[in-house]
Amino acid sequence: MIIDAPEQRIRVLPEAVINQIAAGEVILRPASVIKELVENAIDAQAFTISVWTERGGKQRIQVTDDGMGMSPIDAELCFERYATSKIQSIKDLQRLLTKGFRGEALASIAAVAEVELFTRQPSRPIGTYVRIAFGKKLQVEPTRCAAGTTFIVQKLFHRLPVRRKSLHSDQTEHRYNLQEFFRIAYPHPERHFRFYHNSTLLYDLPPSTLLHRILSIHTDLKEEDLIPVEENTSFFSIQGFLLSPEATPPHNRDSFLFINRRFIRHAALQQAAYSVYKPFLKGEARPLYWLFLEVPPSQIDINVTPAKTEARLLNEMEIRALLQSIIRRALALAPLALPQDWLQKVSSSLPPLPAQQKESQLEPFAPSLASVPLSGASSEYFLLYGRYLLLRRGKEIWLIDLLGAYQRILFEKWLNGASISPQGLLFPVHMPITPLQAAKLRELALSLLNQGLQIEVREEKEVVLHTVPAGLPFTAAAAILEEIIALTNEEEEKINWRERLAQHIARYNVIRPPYTLTSEGVEALWHDLNQCSQPNQSPSGRPIRFLLTEAMLENLFR
Ligand code: ADP
Ligand code: MG
Repeated sequence: MIIDAPEQRIRVLPEAVINQIAAGEVILRPASVIKELVENAIDAQAFTISVWTERGGKQRIQVTDDGMGMSPIDAELCFERYATSKIQSIKDLQRLLTKGFRGEALASIAAVAEVELFTRQPSRPIGTYVRIAFGKKLQVEPTRCAAGTTFIVQKLFHRLPVRRKSLHSDQTEHRYNLQEFFRIAYPHPERHFRFYHNSTLLYDLPPSTLLHRILSIHTDLKEEDLIPVEENTSFFSIQGFLLSPEATPPHNRDSFLFINRRFIRHAALQQAAYSVYKPFLKGEARPLYWLFLEVPPSQIDINVTPAKTEARLLNEMEIRALLQSIIRRALALAPLALPQDWLQKVSSSLPPLPAQQKESQLEPFAPSLASVPLSGASSEYFLLYGRYLLLRRGKEIWLIDLLGAYQRILFEKWLNGASISPQGLLFPVHMPITPLQAAKLRELALSLLNQGLQIEVREEKEVVLHTVPAGLPFTAAAAILEEIIALTNEEEEKINWRERLAQHIARYNVIRPPYTLTSEGVEALWHDLNQCSQPNQSPSGRPIRFLLTEAMLENLFR
């Protein structure tokens, strides 16, 4: 009797084979290598990142950063699959702030190419050199090298002839490489990027603002053709630029949507943006925009594809509607030749925005008059031109400038130390300073932080503003940093800088007219204003309110 030997046909694949399969998902071409290496450099908090390529990256790719480097142990571990310093448990994905987290990029690259690594932590005198080729570690030794990390990748796909053959010409791969490089450089204008091809420096992008980052990549665009957009709501914020439809090249195919500083392909959002633009565009053109969405990490899942270029959003519907309204509004407010019925369409199709105030800018600025008796029949009000309030309280009649009133209320709230939480700037603002200013700013840093303003002084010649007080529009950041720098030039004894900043901030933070008011709103305003120490004067010294006395009227008609 023959008993069959137990048959085992299923086997766990050897690590090297697993890595090659995984590489097929992450590393498709030289551009994927560049993406992964540059993203790692950013995660390592590098300030300067340089990319060198030869023959479209097919021959050689080098990425050098001045980031935190790796210890000798990590320098070997980083090539292991699922080895990452960025998350420890799945819960960490809810608060993910790094580009990477899957720990498979380096393993994948090393599975399909020859990789050399030079890395040194700034605190150590000696670095580590590792050479690994097609999954096999060949060399590990201490080495002298600059602080930071350099990866050199050669012989990409040399053992995978089919893969190698499917690559395009050097020029085409080069174009893909640049594309990938730009997609990382746009959302990080605060860092310095360089790109070399065949030893020629093609792009040198020093730290700057988003606007200048865009203009230094697209040297063919003009600043006045870029329409800024910005919106903050409680569940997401968006900022960026739209290229005016008139300046959009007729065959444009590019658009740049970033979510939490990651380039994302999101068909539904892109389609939504396109549908708003469409009536303005000629022929086949697609809109060109750079839009940066920020959502809490807990509301987005980017673990959809290994390359993390797709995302699921928790509030997709809301975000889509808001995105459309933001673009509509931006296009409507820009000085463009608009289709006849456009404004009409804009105001009727806007969804309710959490940030109500901006909405009202679309209302016609006609002298509208509203009169509503207040709950206690002893008062009554009229709203004039969306800005001035004629208020009767008992026998008194007041004329109030609402803008000044709101500024005063905010200003005093601020001065009285209402808790001010910082709100991170997606694009920190940089400004040059003198060493003397640097010293003063260092002294001020802590008190500024208490006011929601986080500054960083870099090498005595540059100051960076990382946060603005919560609620403040991002666009105010540059002006506020200017004001902070200006304050360092004045004699300390003579200024109350806290008050000066409060003044400045009240000017930006305030909701702008035209206003719409409910009777509760009027009550609240009147109450808040009377709580102020100086209810009659705006922070910058303009009058806020007049009691209309008979004498005043007589004077008027004298
Ligand atoms: P992930 O980025 O998902 O963590 P990677 O395979 O890309 O996975 O990298 C593995 C690990 O190697 C990272 O978590 C990080 O600790 C380290 N590493 C990679 N590149 C760098 C770098 N340029 N500087 C410092 N550490 C790095
Ligand atoms: Mg990575």
